Amino acid sequence: MIFELSVKSHKREEFINITSDIEDKVKESGINSGLCHIFIPHTTAGVTINEGADPDVLRDMEYGLDKCVPDEGQYHHMEGNSTAHIKSSIVGCEKTVFIDNGRLVLGTWQSVYFCEFDGPRTRKVLIKIK
Ligand code: ZN
Repeated sequence: MIFELSVKSHKREEFINITSDIEDKVKESGINSGLCHIFIPHTTAGVTINEGADPDVLRDMEYGLDKCVPDEGQYHHMEGNSTAHIKSSIVGCEKTVFIDNGRLVLGTWQSVYFCEFDGPRTRKVLIKIK
């Protein structure tokens, strides 16, 4: 069964914690032990798992990605959002998390983040639970 989340971003770049939304879908699936595969069907967004406690980590990730992929550059893509495409590929568009006792198996400090690189927009997150 494939579930779909709708995620609304409010800025050009934003990390949005979707952990509890995904856990709701795991509960809804009724699957107690298995796999949760998270897929982002967009070319200028992604998904990552990282620290959910200190918001400065997210700020630093944005900062670090900007250092790796500066806005100024000789990009060719006519749409003008090449940095968003590149960041999407760096971060990746899928993650798999184990499910045990009906819950996502994440480390104490880990959360799942939808990564917006070309917002604000309404985006989809696809979740396969089996
Ligand atoms: Zn583009």
